[in-house]
Amino acid sequence: MTNNISVKDRMAIERTRMPELDATVRSRNFEEVNQGLSLEAAIQEAQRCIQCKNRPCVEGCPVSVSIPDFVGKLAENDLSAAAHILQRDNALPAVCGRVCPQEHQCESKCVRGVKGESVAIGYLERFVADWAMENTDKLEKVALPPPTGKKVAIVGCGPAGLTAAGELARAGHKVMIFEALHDTGGVLRYGIPEFRLPKTIIDSEVKRLGELGVEIEFNVIVGKTITLPQLREEFDAVFIANGAGLPTMLNIPGENLKGVYAANEYLTRVNLMGAGRLPGATTPVIKGKHVAIIGGGNTAMDCVRTARRLGADRAMIIYRRTEKEMPARLEEIKHAKEEGVEFIMLTAPLSIVGDKDGWVSALACQKMELGEPDASGRCKPVPVAGSEYELPVDVVINAVGTNANPLLTATAPDLSLNKWGNIVADENGMTSLEGVFAGGDIVRGGATVILAMGDGKSSAAAINKWLSSK
Ligand code: FAD
Ligand code: SF4
Repeated sequence: MTNNISVKDRMAIERTRMPELDATVRSRNFEEVNQGLSLEAAIQEAQRCIQCKNRPCVEGCPVSVSIPDFVGKLAENDLSAAAHILQRDNALPAVCGRVCPQEHQCESKCVRGVKGESVAIGYLERFVADWAMENTDKLEKVALPPPTGKKVAIVGCGPAGLTAAGELARAGHKVMIFEALHDTGGVLRYGIPEFRLPKTIIDSEVKRLGELGVEIEFNVIVGKTITLPQLREEFDAVFIANGAGLPTMLNIPGENLKGVYAANEYLTRVNLMGAGRLPGATTPVIKGKHVAIIGGGNTAMDCVRTARRLGADRAMIIYRRTEKEMPARLEEIKHAKEEGVEFIMLTAPLSIVGDKDGWVSALACQKMELGEPDASGRCKPVPVAGSEYELPVDVVINAVGTNANPLLTATAPDLSLNKWGNIVADENGMTSLEGVFAGGDIVRGGATVILAMGDGKSSAAAINKWLSSK
């Protein structure tokens, strides 16, 4: 037990709250909403951990971070040791501390949550990772093994690719990432907005990979600029982590009107290209005064909160089920509500209505009610007859989901795909092609950052084993 504090005293400490920017101020700027804990608050929160022998929280973490160990070191105010443990287990801890759905993962398994509130593991992860970024001189240096002489190509610079790159470089392999865009991070940079995940955090996490010798070639589309067979010839192994960024269409009339965006396009314009956000940005974005976002996941929340920050008077979530079924993180829903976002539930879009010049003027909707549970276990939305109405809007954003992009896979006919076009891979990421591994959203479909990272980690271990057996 750390710090000689009795279990009774630990149990008496209440869970800390995350300081946040005021909602009326932040709903008009892109500054980070969550402000982070002070050292005192972080240590006190860490002291709430009762250091369970069976470590259930670790089971809830897809990359098996040694949670009680780093939290225990933080409780003792030994920040270097806490950072060493965290960085050893998680390639992107400052990212995960900000965007992971901890309430469904580690924190959902925390025994403190049985009769009260779980330890705020995500807040503590963020605190230690941020401290580590500012105190690199106090961190233990990781010694690299001698080079193995093996070369691994990674397709995609998102969380799966970055995690695999770190693990493989630490095993002594030469790692080259091929990235279609001109910057790192994948969805972390082009999808998740600055007010949830500042870009400097991604830069700092990626810098650590550079120090391990990982090289990145930008503006290379595997499937166009270079093909998978070419990569297989040049490298000893390939890890495909190109995500699933192709928008799912709404398939309703009016989808081609001016003022309709797919979520990824809208977010990429604002996040990656700075449209409407950074002075001098050359990429435009239609800001809209009445903006409707269709969908109920994290992507929909990011779009609606972005629309609000770009000046929308009415920024609205249109969702065909109820708030209870929404897949978005609870914190995102809370923040969106505080920022004045309207939640129009049990409503489905029928068509997008345009004016005579082809600009969006309204969203034709229909009210829904919940019926019997469907195959996913969620109650099926059923249309209410005669409930059609028009909602006046000038921008519509489709945030119902994404699919695998076929660009890469079209150049590799022997690569097995499922019926949705996702690459089929076993639990070690091994695909139907020898020496080709895959993980993250391209295998799972749209999932989470930490699951993509978990795939990166397990695939790197499998690649390592495969290379040493050759
Ligand atoms: P990606 O992050 O998609 O990265 C793939 C990379 O590959 C990209 O950089 C892409 O440019 C590149 N690429 C694509 N095709 C090629 C090609 N042919 N050649 C070369 N490079 C290519 N998850 C959470 O856990 N918490 C959240 O809060 C959260 N919010 C989200 C918000 C939004 C807007 C979105 C879209 C997703 C969100 N997710 C969230 C999901 C999470 O971001 C993804 O599950 C995760 O990023 C998947 O990681 P990945 O590495 O598989 O792919
Ligand atoms: Fe600490 Fe909760 Fe993990 Fe137990 S389950 S070790 S209390 S974080």
